[in-house]
Amino acid sequence: MIPTAAAQAKQGPSMLRDRLQDPALLREACYIDGTWVGPPSFSVNNPATGMELAKVPQLSADGCTRAVEAAERAFLTWAKHTAKQRSNILRKWYELIVANREDLALILTSEQGKPLSEALGEVDIGGAYVEFFAEEARRIYGETIPSPRPDARLLAIKQPIGVCGAITPWNFPNSMITRKVSPALAAGCTVVLKPASETPLSALALVALAEKAGVPKGVFNVITGDSRSIGKVFCEHPAVRFVGFTGSTEVGKILYRQASVGVKKLGLELGGNAPFVVFDDADIEAAVEGAMVSKYRNMGQTCVCANRIYAQAGIYDEFVRKLSKKVAAMKIGDGTEQGVVQGPLINMEAVDKIERHIADAVERGAKVVTGGKRHALGRSFFEPTVLADVRPDSLVSQEETFGPLAPVIHFKDEADVIAMCNASPFGLASYFYSRDLGRVWRVAEALESGMVGVNTGLITTEVAPFGGVKESGLGREGSRHGMEEYVEIKYVMMAGL
Ligand code: NAP
Repeated sequence: MIPTAAAQAKQGPSMLRDRLQDPALLREACYIDGTWVGPPSFSVNNPATGMELAKVPQLSADGCTRAVEAAERAFLTWAKHTAKQRSNILRKWYELIVANREDLALILTSEQGKPLSEALGEVDIGGAYVEFFAEEARRIYGETIPSPRPDARLLAIKQPIGVCGAITPWNFPNSMITRKVSPALAAGCTVVLKPASETPLSALALVALAEKAGVPKGVFNVITGDSRSIGKVFCEHPAVRFVGFTGSTEVGKILYRQASVGVKKLGLELGGNAPFVVFDDADIEAAVEGAMVSKYRNMGQTCVCANRIYAQAGIYDEFVRKLSKKVAAMKIGDGTEQGVVQGPLINMEAVDKIERHIADAVERGAKVVTGGKRHALGRSFFEPTVLADVRPDSLVSQEETFGPLAPVIHFKDEADVIAMCNASPFGLASYFYSRDLGRVWRVAEALESGMVGVNTGLITTEVAPFGGVKESGLGREGSRHGMEEYVEIKYVMMAGL
């Protein structure tokens, strides 16, 4: 049985290792050129207990350069593997992820805080990306082009782009990694990954499994440490041809500027501010369920979280009443405890931000229907909150809250709500509930976002293109489109035939 975080805290930090079925998955070293590199330096803590789980190295520019050069050497041979050889190795990695899903989930919950059931779900979709791209490795097709000259034949071939730098956030410490690394490896690229400092242990466990699966040395390197200097090496080292980043729009813009010097190709999965709209003709029960999963999954810390909820006049009161009832019943605690559906927020800055958003909305006339304050458990635990009568110009409807706060805003009609939804520099995900087929098409097409959920609050899957428009980013991850980021098209004309 998996122990609770509270039990681990009582027994001391080394207990996480002791509780893993495979203790070798808890690593305190970086992985460069097929070698585990130390020394451990900074602490990784459990947000539910504050206890130290492990220490990992603090590398900076030199360590990153070493990893990039290892990836550069490895690229020469990895790119020459056949698609089937790469596919087989990825498939083996996938099988190891599945076989170790409980350990991976326990590591994830311990360092990130989300409930264990959600961590298991994340490990499953993390594995699903690897499985999907293991399959896609064999389908990187080029094209032949009808020639304008009788003596020539034209074709376009796809080749791996080269060494890729990847930087990932703390909110999905497993799946954000496999979503980048598996298409890169499938295409024949090599990777240096820097995970978030709060959650490096999931990344180190994943690379330990990749090593076991037979990923050759230098092909997949993981480094922990100083994000600024590592990001600079990714953007400036001539061997790096692609920088893939998931995280805040603020850091994405820094990388965009830095990457212009070496004209690197970039993939940016950035912040969101998702609207969630409930029309009068919606199935209210379904809309409440959708709002629960979209808003409160991962304690509201997903980039595709419903951030501002718009409810039409005819159903407004009923929707708020039903949503609040469910929210008030949620069990809060450490993520490894039975029945817990809300863990702690990642840190105290996250608590400060949600408090700022609540205070601003209330000052403008909003009512706290449920929650609204720090939880009695202390630390970064926060009561899941519903606010009613929120004004559309409140801070909460302009900034990503990244916490368990549902602000419900009134709207009059379709045109009014579409205008409010699109009045944002972000455009990652949008959701709406309606049973009118004409409206479904009109609204889905009018919303300025990379993804739209119609009558659902959960849209992420490995088979669909994930990504945003406007300041939410560039490029797509997942699906066959996710592979395109990691290949270059080379046009070849064969003349004199
Ligand atoms: P963050 O502060 O931008 O950090 C993300 C990553 O960037 C971390 O690994 C961080 O390293 C690194 N980093 C920070 N400053 C850097 C710099 N100057 N140069 C290079 N790397 C740097 O974001 P976060 O707080 O971890 O994640 C939350 C954000 O991610 C939210 O805005 C969310 O919407 C977004 N997100 C987007 C998606 C998507 O697919 N669009 C998915 C998930 C999350 P350290 O941890 O070492 O500082």
